[in-house]
Amino acid sequence: MNSQPFNDVHIHVEDDRTGTTVETLKRALADNLYYIQGKDENFATLYDYYMALAYTVRDRLVHRRIKTAQTYFNRDVKVVYYLSAEFLIGRLLINNLINLGLYDQINQALKESGLNLDDLLEREEEPGLGNGGLGRLAACFMDSLATLEIPAVGYGIRYEFGIFDQEIRDGWQVEHPDNWLRRGNPWEIARPDYMVEVKFGGHTESYTDAEGRYRSRWVSRVTVYGTPYDTPVPGYGCNTVNTLRLWAARASEDFDFQVFNAGDYTQAVSAKTFAENISKVLYPKDDTPQGKELRLQQQYFFVSCSLQDIIRLYLRQHDTFDAFPDKVAIQLNDTHPAIGVAELMRLLIDEYGLEWDKAWDITRRTFAYTNHTLLAEALERWPVGLFGRLLPRHLEIIYSINHSFLTEIQSRYPGDAGKLTRMSLIEEGEEKQIRMAHLACVGSHTVNGVAALHTELIQKELMRDFYELWPHKFQNKTNGITPRRWLLMSNPPLSDLITEKIGDGWLKNLDELRKLEAFVDDAAFRARWRQIKLDRKKLLAEYLLRHNGLDVDVNSMFDVQIKRIHEYKRQILNALHVITLYNRIKANPSLDIVPRTIIFGGKAAPGYFMAKMAIKLINSVADVVNNDPDVAGRIKVAFLANYSVSLGQFAYPAADLSEQISTAGKEASGTGNMKFALNGALTIGTLDGANVEIREEVGAENFFLFGLTAQEVMDLKARGYKPMEYYNSNPELKRVIDQLASGFFSPKEPSLFMCIVDDLLNYDQYMLMADYQSYVDCQEQVSQAFRHQDNWTRMSILNVARMGKFSSDRTIAQYCREIWKVEPVHIELEHYSQERAGLKVQKVVSEVV
Ligand SMILES: *Cc1c(COP(=O)(O)O)cnc(C)c1O
Repeated sequence: MNSQPFNDVHIHVEDDRTGTTVETLKRALADNLYYIQGKDENFATLYDYYMALAYTVRDRLVHRRIKTAQTYFNRDVKVVYYLSAEFLIGRLLINNLINLGLYDQINQALKESGLNLDDLLEREEEPGLGNGGLGRLAACFMDSLATLEIPAVGYGIRYEFGIFDQEIRDGWQVEHPDNWLRRGNPWEIARPDYMVEVKFGGHTESYTDAEGRYRSRWVSRVTVYGTPYDTPVPGYGCNTVNTLRLWAARASEDFDFQVFNAGDYTQAVSAKTFAENISKVLYPKDDTPQGKELRLQQQYFFVSCSLQDIIRLYLRQHDTFDAFPDKVAIQLNDTHPAIGVAELMRLLIDEYGLEWDKAWDITRRTFAYTNHTLLAEALERWPVGLFGRLLPRHLEIIYSINHSFLTEIQSRYPGDAGKLTRMSLIEEGEEKQIRMAHLACVGSHTVNGVAALHTELIQKELMRDFYELWPHKFQNKTNGITPRRWLLMSNPPLSDLITEKIGDGWLKNLDELRKLEAFVDDAAFRARWRQIKLDRKKLLAEYLLRHNGLDVDVNSMFDVQIKRIHEYKRQILNALHVITLYNRIKANPSLDIVPRTIIFGGKAAPGYFMAKMAIKLINSVADVVNNDPDVAGRIKVAFLANYSVSLGQFAYPAADLSEQISTAGKEASGTGNMKFALNGALTIGTLDGANVEIREEVGAENFFLFGLTAQEVMDLKARGYKPMEYYNSNPELKRVIDQLASGFFSPKEPSLFMCIVDDLLNYDQYMLMADYQSYVDCQEQVSQAFRHQDNWTRMSILNVARMGKFSSDRTIAQYCREIWKVEPVHIELEHYSQERAGLKVQKVVSEVV
């Protein structure tokens, strides 16, 4: 690296401060290094240069953000508020450069300054503010909302610690805290002036107000403050910059002083701890809530902050709440923010004096709810006792909502006690529980599933009674992914080839990928396509050598399963297949087998025993297979540690085969399946989630299907599933299970995997045993297909060409039309210099806090 970057900047008056010429950008980089980082070229580290670059990009975002906010305000537009406990946004620098159209100029400006963009991109900490698919979906949606020029705000929590960092030690997962903010975050802007108060605990008191109406007053015990931090979200190829507003919890100084002066120092400190713990750490459990009090505190905290903020914004332009549902659409991303239904009721009634019926009408016309899971254990329920201690007023409101709702059910279905029990917001039992999915459904105008099969199962199984009562409420919105991050950014060579052939219209209209079908018979095109895949496999191979010490064959099939580790996702079924291949080679060492590199990756929730055992199993199988001379490198197994958005962007494009092998009826949609296919991997999968629709789009002949259907899974369960029968009747499967039981893969601790064996033979809730043979047979078809590289490449091209449906732009356009009823708002931009020669203060906005 040149030791003297920025040294040829022309010093002249440059008033186009957010301009995008190379000269202006070089000047800005030098200024930001000097004035913000407080360094010059003699002292700056790479991180300083990264920060200087990030601030340079942020200035351009801020300029567009202010213009966007002004336009929304002036036109009093309807705004989408997307409430999500997780936003797994990935690194921002590259995204912002590309969406702003600054990439080439910045690249040049850095080069002329003696810096390398790739080095700086690597300095950025990834904000891991989510567990997996649900949080990543929220991030793709934010990108698509901005790209489609839709007025939108994302609301969530600014966790101080995101999803843990994963290390693999001795084959086991070890977790490390993710202190992502330790070096500062250049992308966010704190807004202490929009701080809000959130109350917890205490009790309620009833009273009669001046007009003689019965009312309830919440006398809370603790007040916590929420400070918003705004991250700009630019659309691709437009001037729109929306906001992701994340809340950080703080104790109030005042509050501490009050208690402190009263002489109770320890209570003052513990109140401070209570407050500041709230946004401390992301819960690392995916798809299985733990019912922990802190989790409910987090949910209520960010929902209350967000609703107060939404109301503040609305009341800037309105005197009554009559138009609220016409200006505000609130989407609940799963039930994590479902407490919002009760909180909006509380705010409207207790704080703004509305009548119950009016408030209820507004609430139901404002909220919509997205269901994300069919797993019974993943449906959020809160014990009434815990809930009432923390949110006594909300418990009252939920009881009132439930009372009216059950009265309606009773008159609709007289004498049907089963209906009342099944549909109540309160689950009876030893400990009464609040069913958050029911609250979300009753309080929303629309409920949606995230893939066609998922929505069908919601209607037929999960929420059958609700669907029967309100069929018009239920919709499907099949998930999607943003093609900017998941193709343009993650796979530049493939993007370039596509653009060379069909133009760049696909970036805003992914259906245009269809035009690639015209090139499928072009041998030169296929050769380039294949070369790009090979280059990406080489990069991943280098990574595996560096990080795993594993030397893999880049011509082998890269067979990849990266996603959270969960029993329903069946990583263990994949491992059983690996063992089967291994046994076949051992039985016949000269077997002509298609070489494979089987790559796993994913985090297990720290308290999820079986998921952690799956990681250990994979690594134990890898130890045996990778080191057996009989295998002679024909199959190799690798576990990619610390799977993240960045690692995904690196790995999806290197895959030949995408493993989407969940038990049918369990994966709501999946989005990893889409990322693989968009990067030219072929899928082996069950008829589950969006796999069904991917197969419909790409054609059955370009998809490797196996396994029971969701209906067959239910039927088999109903008949009485006996996994042992598969063991007894299938010698190859029996051998694999016996090896696990005998300690073949864990010689130092022979009984290590007995827990897996015991589960598979006696329970096997996710039916690995039932699907084993179908999976192994299908994998053999995959291997045979891979022998014909030219035809494989054709299938790969056709997969990409037919992925248009799975753009999150399509998903968001459907939400806008069919649920939110919002329209795009075009943002015009003038240059900063023309607008801001100097301050022209007209009125000073009063401070909110
Ligand atoms: C896309 C993505 C997921 C979701 O993957 P699935 O295969 O759909 O479960 C999870 N984590 C990260 C980091 C992702 O990018």
